[in-house]
Amino acid sequence: MLAGARQSIPGVRSTMQQTAAPVAEKGREAAKAASTAGGASKPETLKIEEISPLAAASSPEAEAFRKEIIRAGHKLWERQYVDGNGGNISVRLGSSYVLCTPTMLSKGDLEPADICLSDLDGNILDGARSRTSELLLHLEIYKANERARAVVHCHPPYSTAFAVTGSTPPNGLITEYELFIGPAAVAPYETPGTKAFAETVLPFVKDHNTILLTNHGIVCWADTVMHAEWLVEIFETCCKTYLLAQQIGMPLSFIPESKIREILALKQRLGFPDARLNDTAIPAEGISAKLERLVEQVLARLEERY
Ligand SMILES: [Zn+2]
Repeated sequence: MLAGARQSIPGVRSTMQQTAAPVAEKGREAAKAASTAGGASKPETLKIEEISPLAAASSPEAEAFRKEIIRAGHKLWERQYVDGNGGNISVRLGSSYVLCTPTMLSKGDLEPADICLSDLDGNILDGARSRTSELLLHLEIYKANERARAVVHCHPPYSTAFAVTGSTPPNGLITEYELFIGPAAVAPYETPGTKAFAETVLPFVKDHNTILLTNHGIVCWADTVMHAEWLVEIFETCCKTYLLAQQIGMPLSFIPESKIREILALKQRLGFPDARLNDTAIPAEGISAKLERLVEQVLARLEERY
């Protein structure tokens, strides 16, 4: 499972391979024009940011990302994580563009033509529909953390139940939560769709891949759309399990701190974010190593003094 999480997603890779051939005609023409204008050799050798927005929107990568967004949107709707036209999904396309879901459309009804192409300022460059106003939230995350390549925002009931209390489930109870998320953050309330709302996540977005939006819902970032959707599932399941466990009426069994440190060490090796990795009170390499360093420092000072 862990190794699988690090690897590229087979489904996405195969989707991208499958879409390499059927490029839309307008995309071929645009890419060819971009290539000719720039004096480059072949369209397929150009990076996304080197071609026109129209060519980028019609590239095989964009086609694959649209399918991934739609698949995630349908999963969110089937799991009842999105209500009405709520929730939104985006993914970075190269370094200059973002593909995102439109406003006023159920994630259960998404089709490829509905997906918008935006720049990092939220200007729509391709697509018949208007982008969601909550794209600003996604863009702030992309600009603040280059590791964020995809963002999923939605309103799952158990997560949102915690969001209306401004709290998160305790850590140390469920291994999936510890490994893939760690401590989730809680961003303060702001009016959705505004720049102030988008900026509420900024203090947390470096060290937290999962952020509760007070009185609103949840936002997760990851390297792919599928992984960001996984984080939503993992957090929602954790919230539900924690609430159910409390109803059993038995004491909760927490993972021993030494085992949490093993998970943190693993996360550090895998490159997963976790705010606890910055916490000197819980070093990933273990308390004994920290104590050893402290002892060495104290001895060194004593030797200086005497
Ligand atoms: Zn929302």
